[in-house]
Amino acid sequence: MNDINQFDVCIIGAGVAGGVLAAYLGKHGLRVAVVEKSLAEQERMIGELLQPGGVIKLHELGLEHLLDELDAQQIEGYGLFMQGDNFKITYPVYKGKTITGKGLRNGKFVQRIRQQILDMPGVTVIEGTVKELQESNRRVTGVKYLAKGSEEEQHISAGLTVVCDGMFSAFRGQLSGAEKKVSSYFLGMILKDCNLPYKNHGHVIVAKPSPCLIYPISSSETRILIDFPGNEAPRKSVELTTYLTEIIAPQLPLQIQPSFMIAIAEGKFKVMPNHLIPAKPFRKTGVAMIGDSLNMRHPLTGGGMTAAFSDILNLGKRLLAIENFADTGPIDEAVQKFYASRHKQNATINILADALYGVMQNEDLKTACYDYLKSGGKHALEPIAILSAISRDEQLLLRHFFAVAFYGVGGIIKPFPTRTKVGRSYKMLKAAVDIVQPLVMNEHPGLFTRSVFRMAGVVF
Ligand SMILES: Cc1cc2nc3c(=O)[nH]c(=O)nc-3n(C[C@H](O)[C@H](O)[C@H](O)COP(=O)(O)OP(=O)(O)OC[C@H]3O[C@@H](n4cnc5c(N)ncnc54)[C@H](O)[C@@H]3O)c2cc1C
Repeated sequence: MNDINQFDVCIIGAGVAGGVLAAYLGKHGLRVAVVEKSLAEQERMIGELLQPGGVIKLHELGLEHLLDELDAQQIEGYGLFMQGDNFKITYPVYKGKTITGKGLRNGKFVQRIRQQILDMPGVTVIEGTVKELQESNRRVTGVKYLAKGSEEEQHISAGLTVVCDGMFSAFRGQLSGAEKKVSSYFLGMILKDCNLPYKNHGHVIVAKPSPCLIYPISSSETRILIDFPGNEAPRKSVELTTYLTEIIAPQLPLQIQPSFMIAIAEGKFKVMPNHLIPAKPFRKTGVAMIGDSLNMRHPLTGGGMTAAFSDILNLGKRLLAIENFADTGPIDEAVQKFYASRHKQNATINILADALYGVMQNEDLKTACYDYLKSGGKHALEPIAILSAISRDEQLLLRHFFAVAFYGVGGIIKPFPTRTKVGRSYKMLKAAVDIVQPLVMNEHPGLFTRSVFRMAGVVF
């Protein structure tokens, strides 16, 4: 290890995933290089609500302090709103303690993570753009990059290269067989001094045609995300302003409407695509992916950062057990075991996100879901335990998912069944199976789950 360009681990990207991975490995004495395109603070509307399960993972990584000094807001649960009705659900207690989520400014959070790694003696942070993975004998041995402001290509060699270059990853194509699907777009705005109906709660507006999310991200700012289904991005236009004013605004709680109208008038919109990218990494040695480069789900449930932190703990612990990064065998074994086991932590996060989004696109399922959660007790507490990523129990998630569909059948056929009502119920159950089956299949299901879905496929 005399080469100054030789490291144990090289990380591409110092966003949420790459930065936290570097902080974890650096804290434990590994020699880490991080190449990040731009170290300047970004105004981003992604990754602004960290679920309690993500806070717990940061704690397990020994990095919970990264959430300090951000003016982050405690998130205690969710308020749900539909057609003039509303109720709230509080996050469950974890090991006897109340763990709140955090609403935060993503740009500020990323800068705090970066400051931490810049201060670590074992971590070298380079502002530059990785152009290529460096390979030798079909093994990735590091990266080739251009430092900011330089035209001269430089290299870094490492036992393991971890690709954390986010949703528009330039390397996913060579490292994964996953197909990228855009489910919808979020249009985001910041509401100033907005008086939320449920203080310190996320707000889900079960609106028509698609949901809106609202949560505080600092003591004076509240994020609103408005979903636009389909794969066409909304564009700034008179039609868009009319849509927001006449269709969306009236569906928002009354006390949010004034700050929403001001935000529309200011016109500071941001638009982001919402992707579904299952994790399907190829077996390539010397390299791993973490974060959005590897796996994405709909952001409706705010699970992305929690999934990334779960992966960092999984892979990170395995890497810390390696004695010598010149020895490739243990590195490859660590990456393989990481890929083989990661779905146990992330299946519920991934399935719930796109299943809930699918439910929100179906009028009968949407109503069933709202009524089911509103009925309270276990119907509310267990699903919110999964949403918060405090519980990662896939069977529990599937039980509640189908319980919602059958609850909906009960609602439709009451007070007595007719042919039309039975037909509508069948359609709704089929829709539920169609929504969840491909999502479950992406997550390495066990034999039992696979058999159940095969049977469901025969019935529907
Ligand atoms: C609209 C929206 C809302 C979301 N809301 C939430 C939420 O509330 N809660 C939640 O948990 N998750 C949310 N997510 C998901 C979450 O934001 C992501 O899962 C998370 O940011 C992924 O982190 P990452 O490090 O993989 O990517 P990023 O944080 O995007 O980091 C990637 C980094 O790589 C750098 N980079 C890229 N290419 C190169 C290169 N060639 N060389 C060097 N550097 C490079 C970039 O500059 C960037 O800094 C949301 C996503 C979207 C789209």
